[in-house]
Amino acid sequence: MSGDEVVIIGAGICGLATALALHMKGIRSIVMEKSESLRNVTGAAITIRPNGWRALDQLGVSDILRHTSIPLQRERVVSLDVERLDEISLYHCVGETRCLRRKDIIDTLYAALPPATVKFGCQLESIKLDQHTTKPILRFIDGTTLTTKVVIGCDGAKSIVADFLNLKPTKKFPLCEVRGITNYPFGHSFTYEFTRFKKDNLLVGRIPINNNSVYWFCTQPCIPKDERIWKDPEMIRQHTLQLLSHYPEEIQEMIKTTDTNSLSLKQLRYRAPWDLLMGTFSRGTVIVAGDAMHVMGPFLGQGGSASLEDAIVLARNMAQIMGLNHVRKDEEAFYRFVRQRRIRVVRLSLQAYLIGMISGTSLRLKKFICIMLVTLLFRNQMSHMDYDCGDI
Ligand SMILES: Cc1cc2nc3c(=O)[nH]c(=O)nc-3n(C[C@H](O)[C@H](O)[C@H](O)COP(=O)(O)OP(=O)(O)OC[C@H]3O[C@@H](n4cnc5c(N)ncnc54)[C@H](O)[C@@H]3O)c2cc1C
Repeated sequence: MSGDEVVIIGAGICGLATALALHMKGIRSIVMEKSESLRNVTGAAITIRPNGWRALDQLGVSDILRHTSIPLQRERVVSLDVERLDEISLYHCVGETRCLRRKDIIDTLYAALPPATVKFGCQLESIKLDQHTTKPILRFIDGTTLTTKVVIGCDGAKSIVADFLNLKPTKKFPLCEVRGITNYPFGHSFTYEFTRFKKDNLLVGRIPINNNSVYWFCTQPCIPKDERIWKDPEMIRQHTLQLLSHYPEEIQEMIKTTDTNSLSLKQLRYRAPWDLLMGTFSRGTVIVAGDAMHVMGPFLGQGGSASLEDAIVLARNMAQIMGLNHVRKDEEAFYRFVRQRRIRVVRLSLQAYLIGMISGTSLRLKKFICIMLVTLLFRNQMSHMDYDCGDI
């Protein structure tokens, strides 16, 4: 590999989308992924709202993905404690919302890339800058090193690239989330809506993907003490069934029959909104994007879509600057990217943080302050979905 390439670290949604966006602008890149193959099994599914669809349209893959899922018609909150039912219509309020299997997103982005763009089994260990040329030198866990022109860190919430940029460590919400996909070979009977069931400080979400698959999650305040559970899907299932023993039978049945491979448990992390406001996201020709830049709680369901937006804005700026007579082109492109993205990701992560804290904190005063702030700052709580990242 020549040292003049753009190197992307991580083949998650952000890394693959960034490589594709750059490819569409005629910029060659290579993606270094630590896993031995595409990480398309974990993470079950995510919802994509209209802003995410705009980004997928730009990447030219939205029509392929539309074939994999059915649009949701509305969103419902069912309070099982007080037998209250709050409903809003998704169809009329917020436009296209679908739940996509993460595998479908990852596989589709990967298939759209030129062959051999992704190199597997390459785990970045550290970065330093060459003293003379200031080019980044990447060191991988197998001892190999690579000097390159540009590094884009799409290496997720525990990013090595973010550490190199001296970003403050990400924080943990006092919440974790179980996710899974249940398959119904003969079809399910649920309507196409995003239903949230609330009871006993627990939140269960149920979202049909298509006629045969349903995605669900369970957000819970308790962090299991037995360490083995993080790796053992069967333990995750039993633990969740125990927690939800007072939930309706149909929910318990859905969890009992969930595809074991799709089950995962994750402690929720976030980069503090105030750190996003002040953080330095690029240094020379090294930058972060996606969760590495702005990991947020899943309470708005926007982390993946924000990563897709990053890919479009980053590629657009890098392509625009190529044609200009600028001495430090990549640095200028990164400066513009951060300027264009900062307020967007601060707003998203602040809204997600406040919503997360309302359900996560046990302190009444903190809960009250978060409710006040979310009401004052985000009068229209759906407006984040109207965002348009623009043309590629
Ligand atoms: C419970 C939960 C529910 C969510 N629901 C939604 C939703 O409904 N809608 C939505 O839009 N978003 C949702 N999200 C957020 C979304 O999943 C993330 O924002 C998105 O996946 C971020 O993608 P990424 O590529 O930046 O990071 P990741 O998906 O974490 O990918 C990082 C990649 O980098 C690789 N990597 C890491 N370190 C190294 C290294 N040192 N060297 C080489 N490779 C490395 C990893 O193996 C991985 O492939 C949810 C998140 C969670 C936790």
